[in-house]
Amino acid sequence: MQSAMAYVAPAGTPISIGDLAAGIGAGFAGERALRELRAFFASHSGQAHCWPVASGRAAMTLILRAMKKLAPHRTEVLMPGYTCYSVPAAAARAGLTPRLCDIDPGTLGMDPDALRKSDLSNVLAIVTSNLYGLPNALADIESIAAENGVLMLDDAAQSLGATLGPRAVGGFGDAGLYSFDKGKNITTFQGGVIVCRSGRLAEEIGKLWDALPDARSLETLAYVIKLSLYAVMLRPTLYGVVQRMPGLGLGQTIYETEYPIARYSGALAGLALRLAQRLDELNATRVVNARRLEQALAGVAGVRTIRRSEAAHAVFARYPLCAMTAESREAVVGALNRAGVGATRSYPQALIDVPEVSRALPRNNPDQPGARLAARCIITLPTHAYCPADLPSRVRTVVESALRGM
Ligand SMILES: *Cc1c(COP(=O)(O)O)cnc(C)c1O
Repeated sequence: MQSAMAYVAPAGTPISIGDLAAGIGAGFAGERALRELRAFFASHSGQAHCWPVASGRAAMTLILRAMKKLAPHRTEVLMPGYTCYSVPAAAARAGLTPRLCDIDPGTLGMDPDALRKSDLSNVLAIVTSNLYGLPNALADIESIAAENGVLMLDDAAQSLGATLGPRAVGGFGDAGLYSFDKGKNITTFQGGVIVCRSGRLAEEIGKLWDALPDARSLETLAYVIKLSLYAVMLRPTLYGVVQRMPGLGLGQTIYETEYPIARYSGALAGLALRLAQRLDELNATRVVNARRLEQALAGVAGVRTIRRSEAAHAVFARYPLCAMTAESREAVVGALNRAGVGATRSYPQALIDVPEVSRALPRNNPDQPGARLAARCIITLPTHAYCPADLPSRVRTVVESALRGM
């Protein structure tokens, strides 16, 4: 029997007491943990350099600031019309203007045809999204960027461990980033890394990173406490309680440009390293859970799955699917949540409808029907290790009955 309060969190990384103890222990040798973390991510991404920073947003801001030094006359960042609000916020923080490329709602990535038609004349860099652990058409995006003399930033904040062909997501283009925030592939509550190949961009990023302040130790202590709570609370029986607590801001999406741009904490690096070393196991669990959800939902009329290329190995930080209409999405998400399943509507708006973004767009920014459709119809389902074995069949039953009741 499922207890009445039990709730399967939308996303998460199982952190054991052993992980915490070993991670914090290694964190006391913070310099060494940071060094090993840098080596891990450089090797994982296939890029030459890695710099650990306070968050994925900080990583993106620093990369864009460095890119700006290479081509100071270019002022726009081309990004997918449907992605995390941190992306346009980071562009703004770097003193740059967003330009949107519409997405294909069938793949949730930038539509390569829309990208080819984009006005790149003032574009400094193209940013990918790789949402939910699904690789974008990265090889196409990489060649379009190269053909047009535009830089490429591969945002793998949700795709650590995903690959396209033989290459790691996050390792395409000129620079990339990974995030350790809540709900990402691995988490230390906050943190992220920049990866970059050699050359002038790496020199500029290195200079900016050298000048960054260190993580503040009091903040770090607060994160260690939060992490211990997180490790326990992710279990469905307890998450049911946490989820009802006001003021935690769980699952909220806000446009925020005021965030610390600092180095990553050495105290947290030990835990990040330990989780990174368990990455294959963590991702394998999510992949199996995603496949079971996909099979359970295969015959259900009224929802559609997201297309992936043959060469893509997705890691499913969450399992995304689409309802056919906004109304059926509301019915499905509402019913799943009442049944204790952390289904989400993901980002509430296409970027073109976020006031801070739309105000900053260039005049000739194209319309965004694909991004708007995704914002109205997307549903994400949990894939983490605390998903109960009967989740796929429960999801199927709830989805079918919600759609019948329409
Ligand atoms: C989370 C996220 C970021 C920002 O990472 P933070 O560590 O939360 O600052 C950037 N891009 C995408 C696609 C994300 O999901």
